[in-house]
Amino acid sequence: MAKKNFKHITQETFRGTCVGISSEGKGVVKCGPDTYFVTGLFPGEEGELSFDYARAGQRFARIVRLSKVSPDRIEPLCKICSSCGGCAFQQYAYPAQLLYKREKVKEQFRKIAKMDVEPLPCLGMEDPYYYRNKIQMPFAKDSRGNLYCGFYKEKTHVIVPVDTCYIEDERAKRVLDAVKRLGKSFHIEPYQEDRGEGLLRHVLIRAAKHKEQVMVVLVTRKDTFPSRNNFVKALIKECPFITTVVQNVNPRHTNVILGEFERVLYGPGFIEDTLCGINFRISAKSFYQVNPVMTERLYQKAIEEAKLTSEDVVFDAYSGIGTIGMVAAGHCKEVIAVEIVKEAVMDAKRNAKENGIGNVSFYCDDASSFMVRMAERKQRVDVVFLDPPRKGSNQRCLDAICKLAPSRIVYVSCEPSTLARDVAYLSKKYRLESLQPVDMFPHTPHVETVASLELKQKAR
Ligand code: SAH
Repeated sequence: MAKKNFKHITQETFRGTCVGISSEGKGVVKCGPDTYFVTGLFPGEEGELSFDYARAGQRFARIVRLSKVSPDRIEPLCKICSSCGGCAFQQYAYPAQLLYKREKVKEQFRKIAKMDVEPLPCLGMEDPYYYRNKIQMPFAKDSRGNLYCGFYKEKTHVIVPVDTCYIEDERAKRVLDAVKRLGKSFHIEPYQEDRGEGLLRHVLIRAAKHKEQVMVVLVTRKDTFPSRNNFVKALIKECPFITTVVQNVNPRHTNVILGEFERVLYGPGFIEDTLCGINFRISAKSFYQVNPVMTERLYQKAIEEAKLTSEDVVFDAYSGIGTIGMVAAGHCKEVIAVEIVKEAVMDAKRNAKENGIGNVSFYCDDASSFMVRMAERKQRVDVVFLDPPRKGSNQRCLDAICKLAPSRIVYVSCEPSTLARDVAYLSKKYRLESLQPVDMFPHTPHVETVASLELKQKAR
């Protein structure tokens, strides 16, 4: 669907060579004074390209024919990976993906932080498929009245139908197929975004890795739902591994998937999973890392870099359901954690109690405001874990950390550009000791990074 700032250029082809990959995972082609970004084109590849569109001052092209193919190009498992927009790298050999991710972190630090750094090699998965434990798909109906679901085509609201997704937990497909079939027989209308009509907006699935538990969240536009109980009964019958079903009502015209109101339709309303030997309760609205295998390696690295002692007071900022703080609690004196989503804080408190972890306290607040108050009180903090969302932290929060002057900061980030910005800001007081990229999102251009920072004049 065309957007206002979306300029189509007439179809014409040109030859180009890929000289690198952009931070969004697209092949970069220089052509005279212009730069083009091409999905699914890899370094060293040459071919005939055609203009696609220009957006926000950038030009995008697509492959017409390749004349030189990269030795790293492979046959993808997924046949729609180039159109669905989720897996830009399924055609790129996994070792090459890992090299790219390390380079991406290095490049963002060079560009944004003006720092010349050598990140460690990116930690990868042994088997980089079927790893996602959280799946969310919008629903629509075809001309024959069949329901389908999929992903939004890049920068559009057009749903590309997905039958099998090779990066998702395999149980998700069974749930989605059942919803498609049952949705049709129960006359459930998918939501039509342009008209603001219909009922079923998204289906969200959360599957535990170490426990046989699966949550299904039916996101609906309205609270009323025809034959709700029978639909849920039929769904459980088809997928007996589902342990809880939640209805989430989102009446707003928005891209945000979940609404405020929730109703538990079956089971306890949450699932549990084990991470680093600790049991975690996860409810629909709480953040939980999407790749449970790599999350354990990420946390191990973060804890190792914190160099905790039994005397340390630890602060866990942006704590979600308390995962990092609770793993750290076994290695230090006390953990103070702050998180803004109240459901996640409720999960965190219960998680600590049920695991018998008594030296961690959770607060529901904005991380920056909380830290400013801690700095005003001159609270002692030895180590800070920072794990903000993609937009990173902010100067208020970072200034408060500098005032608190912990000996170490372990910054866990899913966005290298904001990590580089924040590390540069902290660098007046903190020395960057190491950068460890971790592949939490195989086949996509995204990368998680653990940055370890040490106070320049050690206060200890
Ligand atoms: N450390 C957790 C969560 C990391 S995701 C884990 O590893 O699972 C980032 C978290 O920051 C989310 O839970 C989000 O709800 C929370 N968050 C976002 N903005 C925030 C803010 N201003 N203050 C505190 N927490 C915030």
